[in-house]
Amino acid sequence: MNLKFLPGPVELPPEVLAAAGRPMIDHRGPEFAELVRRVADRGQKVYQTKNDVLPLTGSGTTGMEASVLNFFYPGDKIVATSIGYFGDRWIEIAERRKAINVVCFVKPWGKDINPEELDGFLRRHSDAKGVLITHNETSTGVTNDLRELARVVRRHNMLVVVDAVSSMSAVPVLTDEWDLDIVVSATQKGFMSPPGLAMVSVSERAWRSYDSEKAGSYCLDLAMVKEFLTKGQTPSTPPLSVFFALDKALEMILQEGLQKVFLRHAKVAERLRRGVVSLGCSLFASPHCLSDAVTTVTMPKTLDAAVIKKLLREEHGFAIGGGMKEFSHKIIRLGHLGDVDEENADQVLAALKECIKKEPCL
Ligand SMILES: *Cc1c(COP(=O)(O)O)cnc(C)c1O
Repeated sequence: MNLKFLPGPVELPPEVLAAAGRPMIDHRGPEFAELVRRVADRGQKVYQTKNDVLPLTGSGTTGMEASVLNFFYPGDKIVATSIGYFGDRWIEIAERRKAINVVCFVKPWGKDINPEELDGFLRRHSDAKGVLITHNETSTGVTNDLRELARVVRRHNMLVVVDAVSSMSAVPVLTDEWDLDIVVSATQKGFMSPPGLAMVSVSERAWRSYDSEKAGSYCLDLAMVKEFLTKGQTPSTPPLSVFFALDKALEMILQEGLQKVFLRHAKVAERLRRGVVSLGCSLFASPHCLSDAVTTVTMPKTLDAAVIKKLLREEHGFAIGGGMKEFSHKIIRLGHLGDVDEENADQVLAALKECIKKEPCL
């Protein structure tokens, strides 16, 4: 099965897959110490930050939960924004911490957050400690203007907390320049590695607000991860195979060069957009916020998107994303994260063309 256009987990380059198959090592020994430090250093380069980039066993969602548990306490107010499925998930994570006051800022699927509108909302919630923002909403193919949104949040002197799970290492995320406090990513998307690790960067400002008495978690305690990292270790046994693979993938990403990696993703996105429109489909996301990491495609009204997705899988070997929630019969989602190029885009477009021809109209 070809996973090049699945919005995670993505197809691994052969070198990365081979690295994942290495024999285990002592995770309290010198070899792992070197490995975890190198991964953290290379992670900082991709994050474009001097902040610690902390590895956390789990998936992207684990990192999202960790950002709430570590930095928001009973009595705190949090502004949770959502433009789709993953924003809604973050709202739910925050709301499960019953003693936190969560106020939601929600936009319809396919839209982004307007900075002025957010500014007005934050003015009415000036006592909030932080704002949760999805950078790239994978369910809708929308990229928020994170630089502008962060500027607004910082003007209100609140923490900028970012879900960059499907944007990091696919599109630019300038953690320091944009003044982002907490940024969450995961290995199985732009990092073209197996699932199993979240990465969370934490600013000095966020650490100053940290209170170990109130951050009530053991497995997700980021301060403990930071402390162990200085010793070249993790608090508990790490997913070593994922570390081996991620180390290799980071080396490849930095060798290609970040700007080239971003440009490649933008070119694939542009090619797919033109291609699907020429096949009679339309783009689901609003034109000014189209994602370079995930393209969401609205099928012509006469076609069932779920059937198209099934045909792509069964007859062409492409696993792609379907529409989430009420959009399952209306849209398909093409992820383009990690090891993809324009030739791959042409391949999936050719397959899509066949499926559209074949699927009997409703
Ligand atoms: C995939 C994804 C997640 C969830 O990540 P998991 O690794 O599946 O937990 C969260 N947010 C966004 C934007 C994603 O694309």
